[in-house]
Amino acid sequence: MSSPQSILEHTFGYTRFRDPQREVIDTLMDGQDALVLMPTGGGKSLCYQIPALAREGCGVVISPLIALMQDQVEALCAAGVRAAFLNSSVPPEQAQQIEAALQAGELDLLYMAPERLLQPRTLAMLQRVQISLFAIDEAHCVSHWGHDFRADYLQLNCLHEQFPTVPRIALTATADRRTRAEIAQRLDLAEARHFVSSFDRPNIRYRIAQKDNPRRQLLDFIRAEHRDDSGIVYCLSRSKVESTADWLVQQGFTALPYHAGLPADLRAEHQRRFLREDGVIVVATIAFGMGIDKPDVRFVAHLDLPKSIEAYYQETGRAGRDGEPATALLLYGLEDVVKLGQMAANSDGSEEHRRQERNRLNAMLGLCEITSCRRQALLSYFAEELQEPCGNCDTCQEPPQTWDGSEAATKLLSCVYRTGQRFGAAHVIDVLRGSTSEKVLKFGHDELSTYGIGTELSAAEWRAVVRQLVVRGYLEVNSEAFGALQLTEACRPLLRGEEKIELRKLPTPTRRSAASGSR
Ligand code: ADP
Ligand code: ZN
Repeated sequence: MSSPQSILEHTFGYTRFRDPQREVIDTLMDGQDALVLMPTGGGKSLCYQIPALAREGCGVVISPLIALMQDQVEALCAAGVRAAFLNSSVPPEQAQQIEAALQAGELDLLYMAPERLLQPRTLAMLQRVQISLFAIDEAHCVSHWGHDFRADYLQLNCLHEQFPTVPRIALTATADRRTRAEIAQRLDLAEARHFVSSFDRPNIRYRIAQKDNPRRQLLDFIRAEHRDDSGIVYCLSRSKVESTADWLVQQGFTALPYHAGLPADLRAEHQRRFLREDGVIVVATIAFGMGIDKPDVRFVAHLDLPKSIEAYYQETGRAGRDGEPATALLLYGLEDVVKLGQMAANSDGSEEHRRQERNRLNAMLGLCEITSCRRQALLSYFAEELQEPCGNCDTCQEPPQTWDGSEAATKLLSCVYRTGQRFGAAHVIDVLRGSTSEKVLKFGHDELSTYGIGTELSAAEWRAVVRQLVVRGYLEVNSEAFGALQLTEACRPLLRGEEKIELRKLPTPTRRSAASGSR
């Protein structure tokens, strides 16, 4: 049997372990259990792959994600590891071959979905062979409180009873203290050593700004701070990926599109150029990034709002893997909220699932609108506490100013009410600002008591008020009614004048508008 260090070098081609891989591996090599909490991209896989190779027998990996299983097994086989997976997508003849290989001691790693493992037949088969370890991936699925509860996972405690001498490792990227305790309890991991990594990426500077003229904002950002750097620009749709990449090329950058609709060879080519050449910008949908380990990505820019904080963290986390300073820029606007809300409303799945998607989106919006340190808020979302404001995010560096928005909020809420809670932000703002647009006149909204009572704020300022009231739960954007604004219970005290509300001021104009203003 080879040592963990030599497997790291010769099988995986890396020189050093990352923290805390070595300790986790030693724990399993000693035959003890481990519970590992590490952010996505932190390197969880090696924590069980290496001891599975270094110990006698086959390592059994339980994972709920069929697509990930397939990717991992392909990568392992390419590295010369004898790995296979068993799930519902594997035809019976092939499954038989895999089982035969297992029984002949010819497998190093076997991936399985939990329901497969729990079949009495499978458990009986595993009893007849030597198992080096059990790895339970996405272990938070055992928790009722999490997003991804899976009833199958509850039965995985049978592993401890049926295989008392086989070490087990449970891994997850999302678990607060309570979920961690629940994992340990439900999986019978009372004796397990806990390895809890920080989610903080101190070298990434987080910046989140309102969309004003997004292409121009992106261009100013790259020119001023990341000229000649490698970066990733994320967009929601394929067509926007293409048009943004074309436009960046026109501006003189090496920019390559990447999305699932491109032919495989072109995608591979763009990925290869991004990895090998300097100063390449990839414009991509979220399809790009899985399994990409380029250490010197200097910026990640989002031109559309990610649909959750998890997604934002994961995508921005592709910047600055080398530890050198990097920037994560996110541009967002009210239209993102409407669009993502619609996508969530139309998505498959149960009402409960859609409700969770809305909650995740709201949490993401909350991160956009806060006036305190972004990093503190981000980490607290992952149940981690950062004692002091970080000093390396936009709100730390240019603290946003606030103003007493009570009167403006009352005007807006009243206007939403008077127009019948059937219109989107643009129309409500038109009414407030006394527009004579066709739509305003057609509905007779120029006759309302709230017509023209909001000329003191610009349309952009009103949009900021709308966004903040949505984020704080006073207003809802009804995705089933074309983004109509609707009041919630929470707004009563505001409407009665019993509550004050502090709002975030729009930041000082972008560099460009400041420059053109001083002409
Ligand atoms: P996770 O499962 O925690 O999301 P992975 O196990 O997929 O993370 O690892 C993320 C990336 O980091 C992979 O590309 C992996 O090859 C790389 N990686 C993991 N450990 C090391 C290491 N010790 N040295 C260099 N790269 C590593
Ligand atoms: Zn900060």
